[in-house]
Amino acid sequence: MIDRYSRQILFPGIGKEGQERLGNSYTVIIGCGALGTIIATSLVRAGVGKVRIIDRDFIEYHNLQRQVLFDEDDIRNQLPKAVAAERHLKKVNSSVEIEGVVADVNYTNIEKLISGADLILDGLDNLETRFLINDASLKYKIPWIYGGAISSLGMTMNIIPGETPCLRCVWPKIPSLGTGLTCDTAGVISPAPFIIGSLEVTEAMKILVGAEEINRDLVYIDAWEGIFDHIKISPRLDCPACGGRYDFLKGQFEVECNMLCGQSAVQVMNPRVDEVSLEQLATRLEPLGKVTYNQFMLNFKVDNHEMVVFPDGRAIIRNTQDYSLARALYAKYIGT
Ligand SMILES: [Zn+2]
Repeated sequence: MIDRYSRQILFPGIGKEGQERLGNSYTVIIGCGALGTIIATSLVRAGVGKVRIIDRDFIEYHNLQRQVLFDEDDIRNQLPKAVAAERHLKKVNSSVEIEGVVADVNYTNIEKLISGADLILDGLDNLETRFLINDASLKYKIPWIYGGAISSLGMTMNIIPGETPCLRCVWPKIPSLGTGLTCDTAGVISPAPFIIGSLEVTEAMKILVGAEEINRDLVYIDAWEGIFDHIKISPRLDCPACGGRYDFLKGQFEVECNMLCGQSAVQVMNPRVDEVSLEQLATRLEPLGKVTYNQFMLNFKVDNHEMVVFPDGRAIIRNTQDYSLARALYAKYIGT
């Protein structure tokens, strides 16, 4: 085992003691897309003792451009991302305890899913779940590393409960519907998540081995322009989460789903949104599928899905009774 990690042990920041600490650590990765696959593969190769990988999605062809753990066989075998990741990584390092969990992380299950973790890493594609992680992290005093990437841009920040500002210190409110771009609407080139994922892994190693030189800024990159910036974040005195009020963990801002009576459709409601510009939404969705709209509603068809969006932010996802699919489609195309 020493031989496997010899090059990492030679690095003074890790050393023999650091390697042992990594081997005794338990990390939870939430979201296994481009960011998550880079993070998972690096942590398993580095010999982190236990790695749990949580994701709710299946693999699609448009994922392969940047989600390095997956291949065409996984799509043919219709594997969920968490399962495919677990299978591939067990072949990479059999000494690591790897657990793929297929789940939609929400306020009802997050406390159980992160229980006992030394560190949580963000591989998500939506802000809503990140605010939920933020609450859970502060409540249970588990550090987490925020990371997000879209287009050629990315951001990351370490959140150490009681020491650093938190995500709600950065964004007191979640940006409202229609302004939240996603990789499915704005596109993404692989270097953006690769760089951010790698920065998250570097900080994870530092936190797990107990290094003092942990980054306390928000790091912003633009891979296309070659920009790498540090932004100082101050703690907000009136931050509810830092003050011990966990709104997201109580489900107060959770996107709500209801089955529509007499038809195969799910209604999705976002309590944080009271108005959405259907015109702007149509402009964003037009390159991706068939869009029609008037002042009352917008109809969008993509792949085998159909959704209707209303100006109050409500949406009806047709031809499904699956809440987590409905929530995923809402997050993907409309934003959180
Ligand atoms: Zn805060």
